[in-house]
Amino acid sequence: MQDNPAIAILVDSKPQNRTPEPAKVAGIADDFRIIIEAGIAPVSFNATIVRITGKIAFPESVGKLELYSTDPRANPSVTFNYLSSEKDLAQCVKLTQLLELALRSKSIASFLGSNEHRNKPMPTKDELQKLCKTTVRTFYHYHGGCTMGSVVDKNYRVYGVKGLRVIDGSTLLESPGTNPMATLLMLGRYQGLKILKHRKGASFNSPST
Ligand SMILES: Cc1cc2nc3c(=O)[nH]c(=O)nc-3n(C[C@H](O)[C@H](O)[C@H](O)COP(=O)(O)OP(=O)(O)OC[C@H]3O[C@@H](n4cnc5c(N)ncnc54)[C@H](O)[C@@H]3O)c2cc1C
Repeated sequence: MQDNPAIAILVDSKPQNRTPEPAKVAGIADDFRIIIEAGIAPVSFNATIVRITGKIAFPESVGKLELYSTDPRANPSVTFNYLSSEKDLAQCVKLTQLLELALRSKSIASFLGSNEHRNKPMPTKDELQKLCKTTVRTFYHYHGGCTMGSVVDKNYRVYGVKGLRVIDGSTLLESPGTNPMATLLMLGRYQGLKILKHRKGASFNSPST
């Protein structure tokens, strides 16, 4: 299994005149390998925070999922080994540099209501490595426990088990974009329609099935 490492920076902001749907920003950098999302979240009636979060796409570090028993209700053991690869750690430093730059930008300063962050010196590479190691968290985009080619075939049929398919995020080798849900809903619908079409064709060709 894999999970995309994420780093989030939360900063107090001046109270915002919140519209029903507050401003949200997404950025794609480094040839799709870094994805940044920013938004304003309320913490109370008169306080808001600016949240800037970055996701590392295509991580190299691999984790594992192990079953403790054959009881399907029992939770498995899951380890993601975030940033265990040097390449992922270097990518994380790049990501945190971008987050720090965003934090110092004029546009973000206007939301924060101060230039406090703009005037701070940029952290060193060592400091950013430490930040990565101590604050890495999930983006909730874990994937890959049941990938195509290892557990399911290209029609999402589980190898060696008749009448069972898995059609969800566990089949993906990489989790797409900032938010995978739309892709997964489309995958489910597309494959569902394909199954229905196939069944219709099968019953038309042979009424006994
Ligand atoms: C806190 C959080 C916030 C997120 N925010 C967003 C967001 O804003 N936008 C976005 O696009 N994505 C978001 N995601 C990611 C998104 O929810 C997932 O990528 C997506 O739901 C994965 O879809 P899935 O079908 O692969 O799995 P799931 O949605 O997890 O579906 C798996 C289903 O299988 C069922 N199940 C498990 N075991 C069994 C069993 N043994 N028998 C029968 N059923 C079983 C579960 O009950 C569940 O209903 C978020 C995820 C989390 C955790």
